[in-house]
Amino acid sequence: MTNKKELNKMPNEENSGILIYAQKTREGYLHTVFFELLNKAKELALKLGGVDVNAVVFTTPSQIDGYKEAFCNMGVNRVYYYEDEKFDNYSTDIYSKAIVDLVNDIKPEILLIGATNQGRDLAPRVSGALGTGLTADCTNLDINENGQLAATRPTFGGQLMATILCKNYPQMATVRPNVFKVCPVNNHVDTQFIRREINIERFNDRVRLIDFKKTVENVINELDSAEIIVAGGKGLKNKEGFDLLKRFADKIGGSVAATRVAVEMGLAPHSVQIGQTGRTVTPKIYIACGISGAIQHTVGMEGSEHIIAINNDENAPIFDIADTGIVGDFFEIIPKFLNDYE
Ligand SMILES: Cc1cc2nc3c(=O)[nH]c(=O)nc-3n(C[C@H](O)[C@H](O)[C@H](O)COP(=O)(O)OP(=O)(O)OC[C@H]3O[C@@H](n4cnc5c(N)ncnc54)[C@H](O)[C@@H]3O)c2cc1C
Repeated sequence: MTNKKELNKMPNEENSGILIYAQKTREGYLHTVFFELLNKAKELALKLGGVDVNAVVFTTPSQIDGYKEAFCNMGVNRVYYYEDEKFDNYSTDIYSKAIVDLVNDIKPEILLIGATNQGRDLAPRVSGALGTGLTADCTNLDINENGQLAATRPTFGGQLMATILCKNYPQMATVRPNVFKVCPVNNHVDTQFIRREINIERFNDRVRLIDFKKTVENVINELDSAEIIVAGGKGLKNKEGFDLLKRFADKIGGSVAATRVAVEMGLAPHSVQIGQTGRTVTPKIYIACGISGAIQHTVGMEGSEHIIAINNDENAPIFDIADTGIVGDFFEIIPKFLNDYE
């Protein structure tokens, strides 16, 4: 095993490409954030002179077979997998130790992890054990003129964007879901699948999963994969306005989100705030109701496929990015819509 000092001093050319943690969902699918990281990693790999893009995944026995096609079609060069019945559920202790072992063996230049709840738990453990830096919750990644990972994230409550360099290896970053586009499927390579061993018996179960219950946070995480988002702003004025928004969302199968001002007015929790200091979303349809379209809000939703804006001010900036604009009073338009369809 390479010790931390050696690893940290390692010159670039000895490092082997980019490693991505391929998180699984509770349903056993590869998490979308992995495909988003992969897309960006491919771009970074080209800038680094065509280095390999590899993945590490934890699977239950034979689960890897179900993932092989996706990994090959998405152009992953090597997949390192750990296999055990216990890997149905995430374990901070085992996963972090296994990733640290792998990093010490293959010496990736960059290690990327999704800034999901799981990734936010795993990444600091790994970086702490490796003695390397971690830029958490990034909104962009690039390679600078010295071939270093330039990781950008909001700072000072979102007032500044900081680009952070890491002087140790691997250079680690976590990235929020929905920040990057998903990798196209037409990237076929002959992926090498490498089974890794870890003796999990020696881990005394300090933490055990006893049960899994959906909490408000879990439901809110559905915003990450929602196809329709109905967002409300200050123009909705009060609780009655947001109740109307929720009825509208239920009617069309959408998830509710909000601007920072609406959150500050106590009309919605911070966890559904969209924008610079909130979440980034890319649904098929984003319906902005009573939202002016401030840049701090639109950075979190402008990647949506189709944006519909309802605003009573025809000069509201939201109409500049909307595909469909409805100039009118939310309190007249939505009840009429609900009456017509209820
Ligand atoms: C450092 C920093 C970080 C920030 N981060 C975020 C962030 O992450 N997310 C975020 O959202 N904001 C953020 N903000 C705040 C942002 O700058 C805006 O103030 C905020 O997005 C505006 O919210 P709004 O559109 O709900 O309210 P307003 O700008 O007040 O707009 C309300 C709109 O509702 C319309 N309206 C009024 N009545 C009606 C009606 N009856 N029917 C239809 N339309 C109506 C009005 O015409 C107006 O356009 C941040 C600001 C700073 C300084």
